[in-house]
Amino acid sequence: MAKKIPLYPRIELAKNTARDFIVKSGINTLPVDLFAICKKYGWTVKSVSEAEELTDEIDPFSLRFTPECDAKTYLTPKGKYFIVYRDEVVSKRRILWTIAHEIGHIVLKHLEDFEETEIHRGLTEEENEVLEKEADAFASEYLAPSDILLLCNCTTKNFIVKLCGLSNQAAENKEQALKHYKPDKNHEYLNKAIHKQFYNFIHNKEFYHSIYQSVCPCCKNYIFSNRESFCRLCGSGVSPSVLTEGIVYNDGPELNKSGRVLICPKCSNSTFREGDTLCSRCGFSLTNACTNSSAGCNIKLHGGSARYCYGCGSETIFFKTGLLSCWQRANQLISYREFTLRQLEDDSDTGCILKEWDYILNLIKEDSRFDVYSALKGSIAKLDYDTLFIYSESEEFLDLMSYSRFISYIIKLFRSRLKLPVMEVLTLPGDVMSLVAVTED
Ligand SMILES: [Zn+2]
Ligand SMILES: [Zn+2]
Ligand SMILES: [Zn+2]
Ligand SMILES: [Zn+2]
Repeated sequence: MAKKIPLYPRIELAKNTARDFIVKSGINTLPVDLFAICKKYGWTVKSVSEAEELTDEIDPFSLRFTPECDAKTYLTPKGKYFIVYRDEVVSKRRILWTIAHEIGHIVLKHLEDFEETEIHRGLTEEENEVLEKEADAFASEYLAPSDILLLCNCTTKNFIVKLCGLSNQAAENKEQALKHYKPDKNHEYLNKAIHKQFYNFIHNKEFYHSIYQSVCPCCKNYIFSNRESFCRLCGSGVSPSVLTEGIVYNDGPELNKSGRVLICPKCSNSTFREGDTLCSRCGFSLTNACTNSSAGCNIKLHGGSARYCYGCGSETIFFKTGLLSCWQRANQLISYREFTLRQLEDDSDTGCILKEWDYILNLIKEDSRFDVYSALKGSIAKLDYDTLFIYSESEEFLDLMSYSRFISYIIKLFRSRLKLPVMEVLTLPGDVMSLVAVTED
């Protein structure tokens, strides 16, 4: 049944609908691949040139000479959606926005709920404005989810442009909006679901690939800013930027905003007092400082995986004490893991790779089960109906997993927190990993 077009745009509803659609459409990286989404939902998307070729008519949807209109969406009598967009003299970013805006009209059910929208006849200017604003609010939140931007610490225009593919203007609007953004308490479940979906993207720093393009020629580690004179991973002097896809080294302990570890990497102690820099139980350094501070280097805060001080090139504490391996070893481990992952992905007899595994490991960490967490770190999991396969080559892992109470803890976690009916957990050594290690040595 046709409804009345609202007097004012329902901005919050549009944003929450976008968040809901982020979860439903299952996206887990940015920028969003809108063509893939349209394909998934069976919405046809054609550029004006493609439409011309298909229909053998010039400008069949009269878009070429209506410069104020970038796209149109049609709902066919059979209930199929059809989007056509202008592809001449418009940038890729503008096309992305336009299509997200049109998806907004579809997902907000503008064409189903309001009869007046039919081929844009019968809409007053005010009514049209209301629906346009709603579709824009949807596009902005779907392409650049506020919570993801905050968690990736990408809240400035330039980062938003790179990470989400927005235009400068749209990114600037987003930057302003983020300053006043507060998660909607009534829709907390949505933010949680989005966070879970984007867990790897955020916490395994996959987003570095979009926002940093300058990498170290030696180890391919991303260089964050021109303040860095030395590479944080291999310690070599940073030469002018090399534009290529880099490697994310993220093997160090996780740190909080003030640069302190969440758990002591040596003794797993996690109760620290305000301002503690050394573990009260074992005396290990809780921050990854430069070891050259006595000789005047004042850069105190380094990331958990940094081996060298980016300011003076000296070793960091975590590297000097042997907590972090040399970058070559880290690099090797990343290659082994990727190789194993590919092998396991190809082998469909033992189920599917569990993409949420790192997120689940985080739940274990939040449960303060640090023993289980550290034994499982770096492992790969597959799910085959009700059987969970865990692959790892760490000895700690094989030791711990032979105790049945750890297995029952994992089964319980899956059932209660993830609603997945896991019956059995099989732990397997990451054969492939060791195999490659042997042949390469
Ligand atoms: Zn529109
Ligand atoms: Zn390097
Ligand atoms: Zn300790
Ligand atoms: Zn230093």
